[in-house]
Amino acid sequence: MQRLELAHLPTPLQLCRPLGEQLGIELWIKRDDATGGPEAGNKIRKLEYLLADALDRNCDTVITCGGVQSNHARATAVAAASLGLRTVLLLRAPGLEHDDGGKGIVPEREHAPLIGNVLLDCLLGAELRLITAASYKRRNELMAAAAVELRARGANPYVIPEGGSNGLGAFGYVAAMAEIRRQLDGGSADGQPFDLVVHPCGSGGTAAGTALGAKQYEVAKRLCAMAVCEDVAYFENRITEIITQAQQLDESLGEPADWMVHDGAKGPAYAVASTEQRQRIISVARQTGLVLDPVYTGKAMCGLIQLCETGQVDAHRVLFLHTGGLPGLLAQGSAFEGLL
Ligand SMILES: *Cc1c(COP(=O)(O)O)cnc(C)c1O
Repeated sequence: MQRLELAHLPTPLQLCRPLGEQLGIELWIKRDDATGGPEAGNKIRKLEYLLADALDRNCDTVITCGGVQSNHARATAVAAASLGLRTVLLLRAPGLEHDDGGKGIVPEREHAPLIGNVLLDCLLGAELRLITAASYKRRNELMAAAAVELRARGANPYVIPEGGSNGLGAFGYVAAMAEIRRQLDGGSADGQPFDLVVHPCGSGGTAAGTALGAKQYEVAKRLCAMAVCEDVAYFENRITEIITQAQQLDESLGEPADWMVHDGAKGPAYAVASTEQRQRIISVARQTGLVLDPVYTGKAMCGLIQLCETGQVDAHRVLFLHTGGLPGLLAQGSAFEGLL
């Protein structure tokens, strides 16, 4: 499998003593919030594979999609700029009432204020095309149409699905598990595999790659993907699909580790955390120095805490994947007003 070197690896594997003791587990954190500077987070690992494929096909433009504050869109914009590729982003903008089907005529700044990930997207010269939530349901169709349009103008576009989550992108997390195996072999975490991996789940690629890699490299017996949107049935389908695609790309991949989806911590809506969840983000930050975000990692940590407090975690050594998301936190300052 071709792979670019885009991420700063290996990321640290750290014991989080205070929170672990409170939860009655040995809690380890894989610091994938530290996979880079502005490109940091879990998406850059997937992009190492996806953009290698784009370059191999001589593409000059990358098209992808996400919520308006998508970390994936931003990581793509950073990585693409570093490789001399253009980026076109179809972003779902809440409050937008009409759109042009992703053709790129509408963008009204009020629907994508210059904060957090959007600031970085624009700084990097990505072309933003804002679409409504209704259009976003047809995102794959709209990205294909944008590719046709760009091709007609002489470009050679490469379409990356939401979250970089397909069989190829999942190899980023198969490789992350190989990286953890090397850290264990080097004496980290007493060299012992984990009982359970916990991480946030938004488009399924991280779960699929982690499940395959955790088994292949004997990193963990089980994983729990914490849904931040949709529900258990949706992600069971998506993750199964992505696992199958990855297995088709590399027949040496075996079966995945046992995995499950938990959707009890997704909060009020995608990208909206409850007050209790925001309070947890604050207390974890003050107790441990770990800065979680209100869209992904904060909710996943709340899910883990919930499961521990209700005695549903039958595991002692737990690995939490800190998948990044800092720019999304920085875009939500007003939601923390009154709590700080
Ligand atoms: C995208 C994202 C996730 C979810 O990963 P998927 O592979 O899309 O399920 C988790 N955390 C952060 C910070 C993300 O940006």
